[in-house]
Amino acid sequence: MTGTEPAGRRIDTSKPHPARVYDWFLGGKDNYPVDEQLGRHITALDAGAPRTARANRWFMQRATRLLVRQSGIRQFLDVGTGIPTAPNLHQIAQSTAPDARIVYVDNDPIVLAHAAALLRGTPEGATEYLQADAREPLTILEQAARVLDFDRPIALSLIALLHFIADEDGAHELVDTLIGALAPGSCLVLSAMTADFEREKVERGIAAYAAGGVTLVARSHAEVSSFFKGLEPLEPGIVSVADWHPELAEGETPLGEGPISLYGGIGFKA
Ligand code: SAH
Repeated sequence: MTGTEPAGRRIDTSKPHPARVYDWFLGGKDNYPVDEQLGRHITALDAGAPRTARANRWFMQRATRLLVRQSGIRQFLDVGTGIPTAPNLHQIAQSTAPDARIVYVDNDPIVLAHAAALLRGTPEGATEYLQADAREPLTILEQAARVLDFDRPIALSLIALLHFIADEDGAHELVDTLIGALAPGSCLVLSAMTADFEREKVERGIAAYAAGGVTLVARSHAEVSSFFKGLEPLEPGIVSVADWHPELAEGETPLGEGPISLYGGIGFKA
């Protein structure tokens, strides 16, 4: 690490980062002691936290399978990608549709550092990684247009991203701007944290993240639904990710008892 790197590209190991804490929950190795410390603290408050991370990852896989197999989607814009964890979205998509094109976006320099794993796709398709902030959607759209054809359907996937962005921080504006740029037949795939099922546990988790300097917001069913305004919901609507299209599960292991405090769903643009 040199002192001349721009701040946005430097890996800060002095405070926990969402991508690395999530990696720790998933059993990954791309995290630092501060991340593990927060991960352990949250697990002590809520033993279900690692299973929530797994259930979320599986939601991404189920949703991607459904979109390539049943909806004919061939392009993905995945914002808030996270540290690569096999299988990644492009591997799921390209295993059915080798010509699928994927643009990954994250603002954490550690994801950039591991981006090589996100770029190993099929020769017929395309994968690209952009280091950008979701709160600057116009920059994302401009750069993504080098790889994706915005005249054809694109799945915008915001999976476990929006609970890191409060409404005051522009969560709705960024969704509206990105959706606004998509052609008919495109869709929004989203998962987001909720306190609807286990209020106290989730609130304790939020407080632990806040103590580590990370903003986390839980949203009600109505609040999560409002991101889909103007879109046609795909059945079964917005439900706990564990209950979303279980028939599309492949390679999942039993999650165990207890609710999963993440809503997920898909909505299509007419
Ligand atoms: N989508 C992946 C990872 C979720 S973890 C999955 O569901 O498995 C959330 C990711 O969002 C992290 O990698 C974090 O770095 C990223 N993130 C958080 N805020 C962001 C922002 N403002 N812009 C871009 N990425 C962001």
